[in-house]
Amino acid sequence: MALYQRWRRLRLQGLQACRLHTAVVSTPPRRLAERLGLFEELWAAQVKRLASMAQKEPRTIKISLPGDQKIDAVAWNTTPYQLARQISSTLADTAVAAQVNGEPYDLERPLETDSDLRFLTFDSPEGKAVFWHSSTHVLGAAAEQFLGAVLCRGPSTEYGFYHDFFLGKERCGTLVDLCQGPHLRHTGQIGGLKLLSEQELFFFHELSPGSCFFLPRGTRVYNALVAFIRAEYARRGFSEVKTPTLFSTKLWEQSGHWEHYQEDMFAVQPPGSDRPPSSQSDDSTRHITDTLALKPMNCPAHCLMFAHRPRSWRELPLRLADFGALHRAEASGSLRGLTRLRCFQQDDAHIFCTTDQLEAEIQSCLDFLRSVYAVLGFSFRLALSTRPSGFLGDPCLWDQAEQVLKQALKEFGEPWDLNSGDGAFYGPKIDVHLHDALGRPHQCGTIQLDFQLPLRFDLQYKGQAGALERPVLIHRAVLGSVERLLGVLAESCGGKWPLWLSPFQVVVIPVGTEQEEYAREAQQSLQAAGLVSDLDADSGLTLSRRIRQAQLAHYNFQFVVGQKEQSKRTVNIRTRDNRRLGEWDLPEAVQRLVELQNTRVPNAEEIF
Ligand code: ZN
Repeated sequence: MALYQRWRRLRLQGLQACRLHTAVVSTPPRRLAERLGLFEELWAAQVKRLASMAQKEPRTIKISLPGDQKIDAVAWNTTPYQLARQISSTLADTAVAAQVNGEPYDLERPLETDSDLRFLTFDSPEGKAVFWHSSTHVLGAAAEQFLGAVLCRGPSTEYGFYHDFFLGKERCGTLVDLCQGPHLRHTGQIGGLKLLSEQELFFFHELSPGSCFFLPRGTRVYNALVAFIRAEYARRGFSEVKTPTLFSTKLWEQSGHWEHYQEDMFAVQPPGSDRPPSSQSDDSTRHITDTLALKPMNCPAHCLMFAHRPRSWRELPLRLADFGALHRAEASGSLRGLTRLRCFQQDDAHIFCTTDQLEAEIQSCLDFLRSVYAVLGFSFRLALSTRPSGFLGDPCLWDQAEQVLKQALKEFGEPWDLNSGDGAFYGPKIDVHLHDALGRPHQCGTIQLDFQLPLRFDLQYKGQAGALERPVLIHRAVLGSVERLLGVLAESCGGKWPLWLSPFQVVVIPVGTEQEEYAREAQQSLQAAGLVSDLDADSGLTLSRRIRQAQLAHYNFQFVVGQKEQSKRTVNIRTRDNRRLGEWDLPEAVQRLVELQNTRVPNAEEIF
């Protein structure tokens, strides 16, 4: 008997049903019911197909296990799980999936032919991946069922798993996911799960798909991050430049982007360009009807800057940095929160240097990267990608450049991987994968050599001996897309931003209405010192409630001011973890916060 009917019969007259209990039998939305119906249809067809195969070919097959063990099985009938049980009950309990001839395989899927079989347990990386992957389905089902979420990506990572959701208003039901598998036999093998919250500092608008808006507090985080990179630029001899967003497609033809990258670019037809040319049209009117395109990268503009006048070896290395907005025509399905947008900014820079300067420049790029990631609290992994088939340019130049990169990596002293043949066609590169607090990898920074753009733009400088020489170009970014990095940071710190990036640094809380004026004064002096401060003058709540509320909003510090503080011109300080730092002279407290902000420490609350 269906549970729901049983429950109805058991229900006693006069007792009200608990809403939470009745929610279990609520009808799922139609599309999910259809999805489940379709799945059950396909599943029934598959069961039928397997049964008919088993009947047609009831032959014995040989299964080889690790350690030269051989075992007999029946084609289209015996499953890896049955074999695991024959071997040992422990193996049957701990195996999460199998590998059959190197392919991942569900334990309940019948074997088809003579095969090499290996059981996967949680001890192996492959077994972990299956376990985490199945875990994302449980999380996904819970989010569909209880949050009405629409599921987006949900992969396993090296250390666990995560799931992206779209929280619309629909109510969802039983999960079916078109993934690759394989899966655990049942979800009982999985323990507890945890959901992350995200702060609303950025938002996306249907009128601007693929872009994000930074709300005032999000802008503050963005500016603090960019100011950090600018400070590093100043220290490391970079010049920041501003270049146009829109260029004639002639530029993109010259750079090669029009040939190789056109599909990912937004082209713009100027108004009137569809009119037939009039007989009087002169050169200047024809000029403005050129097709234009939004820049997907800054490099060609920087090449124009290099080439606009003769250059000497004395000016090299020339390091040009640009936070210009970049546009890329990503497919709508690939857009994802802050991590993949159609319009974004990069901490992009191009270094023009001589071949002799290359190694030192690469080393300082790596050092730049390490010092920024250390402040942001990210670990990272480097990979050198060497020449692909179909590379362009002189093989000797490639050999030399790959050698230089290897040498620089060796001296840098961090572990790195070699991705043979994975470089761009225009030069070798070092990719950087950073790991956030949840262990999820993100491709952010990059260091790429380019032998082609200097050729295409005919870049030259007068060498020490007086002859014209061609510079090497390095494309490099430490954060990569600033928006993506903010997304990574937001999730990584779970709303508890370090003071220097925090959108909620200090809230001043007056004990009573008599202290409101002094509290406002304190808030203004914090603001004047460049700190994000708010005043909580809502006297409708008790003091302890207001402090609690401020801590839940993750204000790094709370300045409480009562009668005593007002008369002594002091503040009583607490942190978001409710540590009590006691009474401080107001100007001294402001000064200390400014110091902690400027030194970008990760734990200002602990070392105040
Ligand atoms: Zn570039």
